[in-house]
Amino acid sequence: MVLQPTGLRGKGGEPGAWLRSLRFWPHSKLWCARAHPRPALTEFLRGPLRLTPPHPPALLPKRFPASLLVSFLLVGQVCGGEPPDTFLRIGLLSHVRSVRVSATGPYHVLELSTGEQYPFPEAEELTVRTTSYGLLVGNQVLKPALRFQGEADDTVLLLNGKRYRDSLLLQWQRAQGITVINEVEIDGYLCGVLPREASVNWPIEALKAQAVVSRSFALANLGKEEAAGFDLTADFTSQVYGGVDGEHPKTIQAVNATVDEVLVDRRGKLVNAYFHHSCGGRTDASTMVWGGNSWESPPSLSGVRCRFCRDDEYYHWTVRLSEKVIRTRLRSAGYTVGAIRRLSLVGRTRGGRANQIEVVAQGKAVLIPAHRFRMAVSPNQIRSTFITRLSRRGSDFEFEGRGWGHGVGLCQVGAKTMALKGYSYRKILAFYYPGSRVQRWHR
Ligand SMILES: [Zn+2]
Repeated sequence: MVLQPTGLRGKGGEPGAWLRSLRFWPHSKLWCARAHPRPALTEFLRGPLRLTPPHPPALLPKRFPASLLVSFLLVGQVCGGEPPDTFLRIGLLSHVRSVRVSATGPYHVLELSTGEQYPFPEAEELTVRTTSYGLLVGNQVLKPALRFQGEADDTVLLLNGKRYRDSLLLQWQRAQGITVINEVEIDGYLCGVLPREASVNWPIEALKAQAVVSRSFALANLGKEEAAGFDLTADFTSQVYGGVDGEHPKTIQAVNATVDEVLVDRRGKLVNAYFHHSCGGRTDASTMVWGGNSWESPPSLSGVRCRFCRDDEYYHWTVRLSEKVIRTRLRSAGYTVGAIRRLSLVGRTRGGRANQIEVVAQGKAVLIPAHRFRMAVSPNQIRSTFITRLSRRGSDFEFEGRGWGHGVGLCQVGAKTMALKGYSYRKILAFYYPGSRVQRWHR
């Protein structure tokens, strides 16, 4: 790789003096340009930067992810436009009193309020604890927030032994303890999501569909957890994210093959691309499942008939739960119900899912939205609200139903079957999100 900076001017240095390194992730063929010192870079990088690879153009990177700290324009033969600001803040831990941080190479801690930077060698593991005045890092009290970052761009950080790309931000509040956030470039994030939300055994076209779906979902939900100080959680309430430890070459290939691609609707609006395990024969309209101000769902989330998940083991399911278990779980979720005499389904969505469940207990009837009932009682036992029969069996209630998950957007089992039948990821997405199209994302 030959760097040919054109028009870069730095303080008393040669053009490009602030460009510290280029990183190439071998698995993903993703590139990342970084600068040093990063906060100063935006002041001095004004001109274009041309990067000339010595080898065939087939290896050219498609894009350069930008950083929250360093968001700058790279133009030239390898990058045709302004890269989007695609770093995400993923909440990894909350309300903890101490954490252990180390790295695979030399790293530093940046005290954000003062700009002070504290270097540490690779082998040094730091224990960070809460105190009355801030965070005790080693034997020194530092003011939060603290950013941990590797000196080299291929350095991976370890949080309590689990590996994460890019940087870790530690925030602290007296009443809440430490919150740890992974500031990670979106494709690095997706590399840690796909193996958890899909299966590496799926055909590549299904994984590519999932990559576009997960990217669209993440971008459509940026800031969803802003009250907690980050964009998205690392669990199922957003998307399950396993960091570097969860990555797999095949899912990295799917991310890399779809870099920057998102789903947009007919008006060019980003689709909030929900997905679920299997639909049981029909996906459903988002507002029919979760309610909303209107009964009209966006057309891309309006539901389709699906004939591709019939072989799924959860296409039909049955579960028996005791009255006591249901009552206890409903109470834990805040529903004050006595001994349950009857449960019945009230209303159906267009896709055939239960709208509400009536709980009759000690002469009192309570109507609970079906998806809330399911989440309260057990989403992994009552696998969907596509409940086809609900009956009493002695002291138990028996639920029969179809599919697993909320039923909105992509049916993952259906996507896998479509890929096995030869459909491309674009065809799969067009089927499950009617009227949508794949487009390169620009902020
Ligand atoms: Zn399906």
